[in-house]
Amino acid sequence: MPLADWVEVKGKHVTTIYVTHEHGDHYLGAPILLARFPDARLVSSATVVKQIRPQFATPIVEKYWRPMFNGRVADGQVLPDVLADNVIDLEGHQITAHDVGQSDCEHSTFLHLEDASAVVVGDIAYNGVHMHLGYTDHAKRLAWIETIRSVATLGAQTVIAATAGPSRQRTHRNAWTRAFGISRTSTASTRTESRSPTSSRRCSHCTVTG
Ligand SMILES: [Zn+2]
Repeated sequence: MPLADWVEVKGKHVTTIYVTHEHGDHYLGAPILLARFPDARLVSSATVVKQIRPQFATPIVEKYWRPMFNGRVADGQVLPDVLADNVIDLEGHQITAHDVGQSDCEHSTFLHLEDASAVVVGDIAYNGVHMHLGYTDHAKRLAWIETIRSVATLGAQTVIAATAGPSRQRTHRNAWTRAFGISRTSTASTRTESRSPTSSRRCSHCTVTG
């Protein structure tokens, strides 16, 4: 079911749409959602808005994203507003946006719903699908692992990953544990996991499972 239809079935009044990071597949659908939920505002952190703004001055949507999605990219793209205080009110519950740095890009953010013991992590954690490593090198992958560890310190019981395999639900407990072999109690020696040599790529300190 398309996201907007799913939200509508729930009977919710959408007030805020949050963009976790600068990659187009995380904001290109915003015009469709804003048309369906006209009371909503599109927001992100100042850091992410700073990364998206120059993309609108380039042909990246037409040259890169539109062909990738077989033309199915909404017209009338919208730059998110800066979420000034990094807080969103959800029916009386506070959602906090956190800037954490490296994941599949250098400027990642996530949302923490403390009352629900949940985090919405964008592409910081992937769920049952290979991570996008095209913009990373060894140092950035190590930084990515540290980002995951910093999110894990919040102790959230539910992790909502943006990118999931086709048969996966998007909500999984401890998604990062399965994705990276990291547990909240892990030590440096247990930060990485290795599957069979044919299903993993290695560098000297990080192992990326494939
Ligand atoms: Zn991404």
